[in-house]
Amino acid sequence: MNTKNIAIIGGGPAGFMAAIAAAETSSCKTHIDIFEKDIPLKTILYTGNGRCNLSNKIYDYKELASNYPRGEKFLYSAFSRFGVKETLDWFYQHGVKTYVQEDNRIFPTTDKASTVRDMLIERTQKLSINILAHTATKKIIKKDDKFVVQMENFTKIYDKVIIATGGSSRDLQSSGYELAKSFGHTITELKPSLTALRTKENFVGKLAGVSVKNAEISAFFNNKQVTKIKGDFVYTHKGISGPVIFKTSAYCAIIDYSKNNPLLLKINFLPDFDREIFEKELLEEFNSNPHKSLSNILKKYLPKSLIDALLEESKLDTDKKTSQITKEDRKKILKILTETELAVISPEPEGEIVTTGGVCLKEINPKTMESKLISGLYFCGEVMDIDGLTGGFNLQGCWSTGFIAGISDFLYAGDLLA
Ligand SMILES: Cc1cc2nc3c(=O)[nH]c(=O)nc-3n(C[C@H](O)[C@H](O)[C@H](O)COP(=O)(O)OP(=O)(O)OC[C@H]3O[C@@H](n4cnc5c(N)ncnc54)[C@H](O)[C@@H]3O)c2cc1C
Repeated sequence: MNTKNIAIIGGGPAGFMAAIAAAETSSCKTHIDIFEKDIPLKTILYTGNGRCNLSNKIYDYKELASNYPRGEKFLYSAFSRFGVKETLDWFYQHGVKTYVQEDNRIFPTTDKASTVRDMLIERTQKLSINILAHTATKKIIKKDDKFVVQMENFTKIYDKVIIATGGSSRDLQSSGYELAKSFGHTITELKPSLTALRTKENFVGKLAGVSVKNAEISAFFNNKQVTKIKGDFVYTHKGISGPVIFKTSAYCAIIDYSKNNPLLLKINFLPDFDREIFEKELLEEFNSNPHKSLSNILKKYLPKSLIDALLEESKLDTDKKTSQITKEDRKKILKILTETELAVISPEPEGEIVTTGGVCLKEINPKTMESKLISGLYFCGEVMDIDGLTGGFNLQGCWSTGFIAGISDFLYAGDLLA
C-alpha cells in the first residue's frame, strides 16, 4: 500500500487539529509532519487568560457563523459538519472534559489551556505524527502532483500540504501569506481585530482603570453608523478597552480610520433609560436637592471620577449647585450621559488578538478547505480571511476548518464529505 505524505505548515490549534483528523480518518497509510517555526502550540497557552476559551455554546451553525465579521457564509459548510457539538464530543473522546460558563463561553474543566495543549501533543505522539519544532517552511513548489517543501536546511516531498500558519499583521515575511502568494493566492488586506482603541481625547488617561457596565456604543464613520453594541468597557491610558470595544473593533477592523479621519464613538451610559422620563427624573432630583453639587447628584448614575472628568470636559462646574443649573446646562448633562463622543484614531498598536484578512476565501473550497487554484493544497485556521468575535469563536473556527482540511482528501475521505 502506498504511503500518503502530508505536510502541515504551522503547529497551532488549526494545524494540530488537521494533523490528528487526517491521521485518525485516513484509510491508507499516512506519514504526517507538522512544521512549526517556533514552539508548537505556544499561542494556545495564552488563550482565555490561560484558561483556553475553546468554543461557545451555539449549536445552530448559522447562528454560530454570525459571530464571524469575516467568513460567515464560508463557514456554513464546515460548521454544519463539524460544529460546536462535534467539537465538544471530539474533545471529550480525547480526554478533555469541558464546561459552559454563564455567558456561553466553553472552557476545559481544569480551567487550564495546558490541558488542551497536552492532549493535542500526546495525541499526535500516539498517532506517530512528526512534530518538527523550530523549523520554518521557507518555500513550497508544486512539481507534477507532488509538493516540494523547503526548510532552511532540508527539503521533503509531499502529496498534500495544509497551510495553517495563523494570522499576523506584523510578521509578514516568515508567514504563510508568502507561501500562499507563491501559488497565486490573493491575500486580502491584513488589519488587527479584537483590539483596544486609541482615542484623540487625552482626558481618558485620567480615567485609566475606571470601568463602565452595560453602555451602548455606536460607531460612526464619515457620518454613517457602522455599529451599535451594548456591553462593558474600561478606560485605558490612551483610550478604551473591554468586551464592547473588542466587538466594535472587529466590526470596524477594515475601516481606514485615522487621526485625520477618526472613527466617532457615541457612548450612551444609560441605554435602558427612556430619555424623556429620565429628563423629568433628573429635573425632580435637582429641584428636591437645590444645595447639592451637580457632581454629587450625578454620581448616582456613574462613578464620581468619571462624572467629574466628563463634566470638566464639557466645561461644566462639578461644584455648581443644582439650583443654579440652567436649561442649557441640563442639555449638556443629558448629552454627557447619553451621547458622550470619543474620536478613535487607531487600534491599540500591537494589541490585537486576531488578524482580519488573509487568504481570499473565494479561492478556497468551503467544503474541503482545498485551494481552488492548486489541487492538494489546503488551508485552515486564521491564515484564511476569517476572524471571529471574542468568546471562543476563533478557536472554534480553527477546530472546524482544521478538521475539514485534515479529512478532505480525494483518496480517502470522499465518503466522509458526501
Ligand atoms: C492573547 C490571546 C488570547 C486569545 N484567546 C482566545 C480564546 O480564549 N479563544 C479563542 O477562540 N481565541 C483566542 N485567541 C485567538 C486564537 O488564539 C487564534 O485565533 C488561534 O490561535 C489561531 O490558530 P491558528 O492555528 O490558525 O494559528 P496560530 O495559533 O497563530 O498558529 C500558527 C503557527 O504557525 C507557525 N508558523 C507561521 N509561519 C510558519 C512557517 N513559515 N513555518 C512553520 N511554522 C510557521 C507559527 O509560529 C504559529 O505557531 C487569542 C489570541 C491571543 C493573541
